[in-house]
Amino acid sequence: MSQIEIQRAAVIGAGTMGRGIVMCLANAGVAVQWVDNNPQMLEQALTAVSETYAHNVRQGRIDQAEADARRARVSAAADYLAIRDVDLVIEAVYENLELKQKIFRELDGLIQPRAILASNTSALDIDAIAAVTRRPRQVLGLHFFSPAHIMKLLEIVRGAATAPQVLEAALALGERMGKVSVVSGNCPGFIGNRMLRTYVLEARKMLLEGAFPYQVDAALQGFGFAMGPFRMYDVVGIDLEWRARQLAGKGQEAHEVQVDNRLCEAGRFGQKSGKGYYHYEPGSRQAEHDVQVDALVQQVSEGLGYRRRDIGPEEILERCLLALVNEGAKILEEGIAGSAHDIDLVYLNGYGFPADKGGPMNWADRQGLVSIQQGLLRLQAESGAHWKPARLIDELVQAGKGFADHRAIG
Ligand code: NAD
Repeated sequence: MSQIEIQRAAVIGAGTMGRGIVMCLANAGVAVQWVDNNPQMLEQALTAVSETYAHNVRQGRIDQAEADARRARVSAAADYLAIRDVDLVIEAVYENLELKQKIFRELDGLIQPRAILASNTSALDIDAIAAVTRRPRQVLGLHFFSPAHIMKLLEIVRGAATAPQVLEAALALGERMGKVSVVSGNCPGFIGNRMLRTYVLEARKMLLEGAFPYQVDAALQGFGFAMGPFRMYDVVGIDLEWRARQLAGKGQEAHEVQVDNRLCEAGRFGQKSGKGYYHYEPGSRQAEHDVQVDALVQQVSEGLGYRRRDIGPEEILERCLLALVNEGAKILEEGIAGSAHDIDLVYLNGYGFPADKGGPMNWADRQGLVSIQQGLLRLQAESGAHWKPARLIDELVQAGKGFADHRAIG
């Protein structure tokens, strides 16, 4: 296969992510055709794109001619037949495997055989999506972060069958779009969201054991994170996972999500509803401490039989950071990430990890893996097997090495 050039693309889905992705492509000089099965959504999205470009002109970021050129590269398409000649399709519809498979099956039948088909899924199995097509070598994940036209990170998800030339084309496109691209293997959540799961789980456990959301966030923001996990949930919307659990019919009973469930049942979805883990004055994004939330957290945890205790910032930091590092080590050990540096790039550019701390793996190397291993073993003895150090950590400690040396070993 010769080098694949992306000149024309299509985006399926005109929601939050579709809008940002379309602008990334148009800004990089790629002509984009846009499909959504809700014509009203598409109309609104085209207006939103025009407004963003007009705003960029008012801010002096681009001139009118550039805004017009970018906007002119974006057009609505009625159906898949209208986009059959594109070089790349990026799908950004709802996070539902069956829906994505249906769309990929249809696209595969209509779009020219050499085109690349990509999904912006946050966590779904790329191989299961590729499997419904006759071109699994040309299927991959292009995981943008919200807002896609602003966030620097692009996780490029390599499926089991993805061809090297297809990965190269995605990397070249990432560069044209000015992204920091990181290749990830295929696993639930890829690099970033898989690690985030363990970190959030620890934060939620601490609410049940005695901490309050503002204390967890303050400790992590004190370390330098742009936002603690609960402020992040308020921005993203607490209801997204709540609805997904309802739809899947599982996971709703876990102790760790009971605070989220109660907040959502009370209509506290986050910033968009003026209240979530915090309170927001009308029109403001300033997260205000809310004593009602503390009372709710206390009620939920005591109702579940927890004996609350004071949890200080050191414990909050240790548990959240070690959860990230241990999962990062497993990701490295499994070859999901090519290097510790790639994991750090993901956390620095997509998850607000403090730049001066170098990313979770670099931070761990700076602490010394012996102290990381000891911390994990202590937590394992205190609270269970999920803290067992990753095999890679034991091996590196044994060899007197750090995560940064891993490629030399592996
Ligand atoms: P959204 O709900 O804002 O938009 C989804 C769009 O898809 C809607 O406009 C809808 O009309 C359209 N759509 C639904 N079914 C369709 C079909 N059959 N054909 C064409 N269009 C269809 O969703 P979103 O937040 O933009 O998320 C899209 C994808 O991106 C999901 O897979 C999500 O997991 C992923 N993602 C989201 C974020 C985020 O922060 N929102 C971040 C990274 C990745």
